[in-house]
Amino acid sequence: MRIVDIHEIAVPLNSKLRNAVFSFEDMTTSIVALVTDVTRGGKPIVGYAFNSTGRYACGAQMRERFIPRLQRAPAEHTTLDPQSFDPDLILKAMMVGEKPGGDIERSVGIGTIENAIWDAVAKIADVPVYKLIADRYRDGKYEKQMFCYVGGGWYSPGKGIAELVDEMHGHLDRGYTLVKIKVGGAPLDEDVKRLEAVAKLVGNPGQIAVDANCGIAPRQRPAYAKALGPMGLSWFEEPAHPVDFQGNADFIEAYGAPVATGENLFSIEDYRNLARHGGMRPDRDIIQIDIPQSYGIGTTSRILAMLRKNGWSEASILPHGGNMMSLNHSAGFGFGMCEAYPDAFGVFSGYADDLKVENGYLTLGDWPGMGFERQNNLYALMKPISG
Ligand code: MG
Repeated sequence: MRIVDIHEIAVPLNSKLRNAVFSFEDMTTSIVALVTDVTRGGKPIVGYAFNSTGRYACGAQMRERFIPRLQRAPAEHTTLDPQSFDPDLILKAMMVGEKPGGDIERSVGIGTIENAIWDAVAKIADVPVYKLIADRYRDGKYEKQMFCYVGGGWYSPGKGIAELVDEMHGHLDRGYTLVKIKVGGAPLDEDVKRLEAVAKLVGNPGQIAVDANCGIAPRQRPAYAKALGPMGLSWFEEPAHPVDFQGNADFIEAYGAPVATGENLFSIEDYRNLARHGGMRPDRDIIQIDIPQSYGIGTTSRILAMLRKNGWSEASILPHGGNMMSLNHSAGFGFGMCEAYPDAFGVFSGYADDLKVENGYLTLGDWPGMGFERQNNLYALMKPISG
């Protein structure tokens, strides 16, 4: 049960959306297909994964360093046998010759390959990835339903308040009960009007979160904290640059209400610094981990152990990325919720075609691996890569 070949291609995200800081128009993502020597129905089992959203494809690092290292590593270190597969040895194999620090240059490539390995191993075991995660890290306990909020409310050309409210209406109609909209890409008074309009629609500001994507200048943050702090929002996301921990702490002090951040951190050391220096409060704030971007599932288990020592529980963790990978991660690790971005990033957003959100919840299915094969348009893009 071993890796035969690993293929990678870069594909465009095909999105015209914009947040407070950047547009997704030119973005690409890497898709990885990991071919195994295990066959089912006469065909080799293939593990797949892609980068999460908001980063670019990273095939050069994979092709030049991580894939050859996995192929050179002792076979027992990279085994895909569900009983003896060891994510720590797999990480170690990909990290040979890497210097500490500079994690982002490699953590996305490594994390994407690592997720494809989990997909392959779960398929070999004929279980969902969430069950494989639960068996390994949580005494077999997994969530059968996940609360799922919807991320939207992007700025886009010609989109005013009426169109924003229409968009939110659509999300509520699809069964979501908690919506997130962007802030910081318009003047504060306009952002407040956008929020008031959405609050009027959903009826309760506690069903709205906002995301600044680190786009609010430090001098403007106190005004945002003062205007939005008393509104009773569910959370305020990424008020400061991802590693401006003091800036995050200062915002929290001024804002008071729940804050979320962490989707642009890439190592256990980054998350430790956030827990130590970011002013984050385990009783109300949310830490967002992008698992394929931060070395993968094995590293996440160590990040969670570190966070637990710092007073955090899985209920306060929310993975970044609304796709079958993040859904499996959430159910397996027992995170507080997961997110979805329907229509935002083409085939890379959303869940298995037959999964429906009901009253804010997704009910998990019994798919082998991540379940990408149950997402027709995405799988049509993935399948040819396996060669
Ligand atoms: Mg965000």
